[in-house]
Amino acid sequence: MRLILYVIVGVVILTLLRSVLEAVGKAFSGASSSGSPPAAGAPRGQAPQSLKKDPVCGTFVSTATAIQKTKGGETYYFCSAECRDKF
Ligand SMILES: [Zn+2]
Repeated sequence: MRLILYVIVGVVILTLLRSVLEAVGKAFSGASSSGSPPAAGAPRGQAPQSLKKDPVCGTFVSTATAIQKTKGGETYYFCSAECRDKF
């Protein structure tokens, strides 16, 4: 008779433990996912790369590798010197 009581108590404790672990796991995954973006962006320490459209040929170029030209206070990005000269 006692054994059944122990089994029931054991199952209840296991269920509680599992829900607690799930809650802790969610808290941890939430904390790590919210903490990772700054860590991922930190190594470069600069503005994240973005794509700009070459106004001459329409090609999207990375601002990190594109040829830049400032005109009228705006910076334009080109895929090649050829496009920059055409602009
Ligand atoms: Zn181009």
